[in-house]
Amino acid sequence: MIIHSAVQLKDQIIQVGKKLVDAQLVVGTWGNISCRVPNHKNYHITPSGMIYHQLKSEDIVTMNFAGEVVEGDRKPSSEFILHQEIYKARSDVGAIVHTHSNYACSFAVAQERIPPVLEEAAQLIGGPVEVARYAPPGSLKLAIHGVRALENRNAVLLANHGVVAVGRSLEEAFTVAVLVEKLAQVFLNAKSLGTAHVLNDVETKNLRESFLKHYGQSKK
Ligand SMILES: [Zn+2]
Repeated sequence: MIIHSAVQLKDQIIQVGKKLVDAQLVVGTWGNISCRVPNHKNYHITPSGMIYHQLKSEDIVTMNFAGEVVEGDRKPSSEFILHQEIYKARSDVGAIVHTHSNYACSFAVAQERIPPVLEEAAQLIGGPVEVARYAPPGSLKLAIHGVRALENRNAVLLANHGVVAVGRSLEEAFTVAVLVEKLAQVFLNAKSLGTAHVLNDVETKNLRESFLKHYGQSKK
């Protein structure tokens, strides 16, 4: 189903928020979610510090790329600059999910990248999850470091902070967020067993390309 209307997109953001809490990728009101408004230089984003399970579509804030609220009475997420700068840098990104999930945060704290040790990570993330240099939350510096470390892949770690997952749709960005957590856990487990074998650059590139070309149902 292709979702177009603003209310449908806002409702989908709320559903993803509830799933993040239920999957324990965030606790309390931490984390944030956004999606691009089709054919506009705007995006919808979760409000600052509100409980996901209590959100209503009118609580979702619509912003432009100049950092101005164009619709909604709530204060936007304090990380809106990060979302804004990713949308400006990556025209292929349709949605962003930011989490503070445990295993991925362990790598963010160790400031250690998570390599593509699973095929699904190579397919969906497109390479390693690098660590963006530390900067205070909500700052333009954090957004700049985040965009730089993300490059053309679909996930990045923010040092001592959390995960940014991106995708073509909200569904895909959510799946990336879940996958980053799984990847971090599997990599750590594999290292504790002995050697964690990493897919090399060619294998990763081939998996990514074949996923983009062939995976899923073709559009009619
Ligand atoms: Zn955060």
